[in-house]
Amino acid sequence: MVYSNVTTSALTELYAGTDFSSLSWLEHQWVAWYVWIGNPVIATGLMSFILHEVVYFGRSVPWIIIDAIPYFRQWKLQPNKVPTAEEQWSCTKQVLFSHFTIELPLIWLFHPTAEALGMTTYQVPFPSLKTMAPQIFLFFFFEDFFHFLAHQALHTGVLYKHIHKIHHKYSAPFGLAAEYAHPAEVFILGTGTILGPLLYCYFTQNLHIVTVYLWIVLRLFQAIDAHSGYDFPWSLHNIIPFWSGAEHHDFHHMAFTNNFSTSFRWWDRIFGTDDKYREYRARVNAAKKAMTNATKEQKIAMEQKLMDEVEAEGIIAEKEAEQRGFGGKTVKVQ
Ligand SMILES: [Zn+2]
Ligand SMILES: [Zn+2]
Repeated sequence: MVYSNVTTSALTELYAGTDFSSLSWLEHQWVAWYVWIGNPVIATGLMSFILHEVVYFGRSVPWIIIDAIPYFRQWKLQPNKVPTAEEQWSCTKQVLFSHFTIELPLIWLFHPTAEALGMTTYQVPFPSLKTMAPQIFLFFFFEDFFHFLAHQALHTGVLYKHIHKIHHKYSAPFGLAAEYAHPAEVFILGTGTILGPLLYCYFTQNLHIVTVYLWIVLRLFQAIDAHSGYDFPWSLHNIIPFWSGAEHHDFHHMAFTNNFSTSFRWWDRIFGTDDKYREYRARVNAAKKAMTNATKEQKIAMEQKLMDEVEAEGIIAEKEAEQRGFGGKTVKVQ
């Protein structure tokens, strides 16, 4: 009986005057969730956390399976570096630890912050796809540029040595490694994901939390896929040339330098922080052309040699970055 009282009061309190007849199935589930929990702050917090966990690990599972099947090696960007089960497990533990210690408390603050800035949360109906699409594109654009700048800052001196170095543990990343990072990095780079919607909401007073959820789901897909280590003929960047994808970010992990943005290639192109990457691609293509009559094994060996060279340069660049202060000044050379 207590339960039904809570339900009735939440229903009248939150949804007085709502026309339920025109709602979709999903909108009905949304209402049922907020009514069942009875407290919008807890309902949003729980839903945000569960959504993040389900999407993050759900999207990582196909990549774990792909890593276990040798057939897919032909599309692996660094085929000699397939993550072991131990590596995947230790990465999972670290990621879970930061999800429960850093993200959970931050997610709890999300509902009060969002509401204070005028975001629509428990209300229905949802905005139309026509309203959501341009908003989500703006969040992609904002996050990409924010990340482009913040990521470069994380590659200097103490910020690299004490924070970003953890994320660079894997020179050949895999899906689960997308959020493998120092808690401070999760906070700094996560700001790029959440600040866009908060600013947009503050200035327009026209944003529903479901749009933010859709954005976060797409952003998670982007981050996990970019770390997957695979470039398939049907990968998005082969269809949309300015999309970064794994082919772009895998090089960042292998070479330590270049390709600092997340979703799009344009800022690295404009600011020239993709010079080494493009040089490497040109070298691989030229070598492939010159080796038309060579065996498959010879071609693989040639590509591996070029990768080893880039990685060796990256190890030196990493040491230099650790010793570099802000503004590119070398603090101490050993
Ligand atoms: Zn980096
Ligand atoms: Zn990465």
